[in-house]
Amino acid sequence: MIRADLHIHTTYSDDSTVTPKALVEKLVTHNSIKVAAVTDHDSVKGLSETLKLATIYPDILIIPGMEISTAEGDLLVLGTEETPPKPWTVEAVVDFARDNDCVSVVAHPYREYGMGDLAMNYKVDAIEVLNGESSQQANNRAHDLANSMGLPGVAGSDAHQPSEVCRVYTEVQAGLDVDEILKALKNGVVSAHSAARSIHF
Ligand SMILES: [Zn+2]
Repeated sequence: MIRADLHIHTTYSDDSTVTPKALVEKLVTHNSIKVAAVTDHDSVKGLSETLKLATIYPDILIIPGMEISTAEGDLLVLGTEETPPKPWTVEAVVDFARDNDCVSVVAHPYREYGMGDLAMNYKVDAIEVLNGESSQQANNRAHDLANSMGLPGVAGSDAHQPSEVCRVYTEVQAGLDVDEILKALKNGVVSAHSAARSIHF
């Protein structure tokens, strides 16, 4: 079993102050969360630096990814080091994820830039039911959405500053391996947890 923060912005997103170095150091020093997904806005530029910094630490793992701004709302793609071809419609990005063994996740569906109920129109792999930036009410609605769609619910801090990294996490029944983790996410052997509050989905 591993614990992962599946939604983090680095300084390669123009609204974040989390340097790749700070992210890696957080994982190295954290006593239980050793996996993080780098999901910068519409970019994979932060990945090479982060992956390079992480490579000397055998007990931590970076999942490559990005958060794509579609016209209908934000969509996380986990497992890609490349940007999908444009135009970024939800359908095209979901297809890209499926064809490239990545995982598509509807980010914070009931917050600004969230997809809301429109998510039900797409064959996404998972719903972000616990987003560190969202209100509890918005997260509860996301949890209900995941249940009604029969999809796994995952957690991500959506950190934009170092103190926010790892404030929520997803527990995944998998080893420290990107492919294993992505497969487990698709299979739904996951649960979402808050580090600070006693919220568990
Ligand atoms: Zn985000």
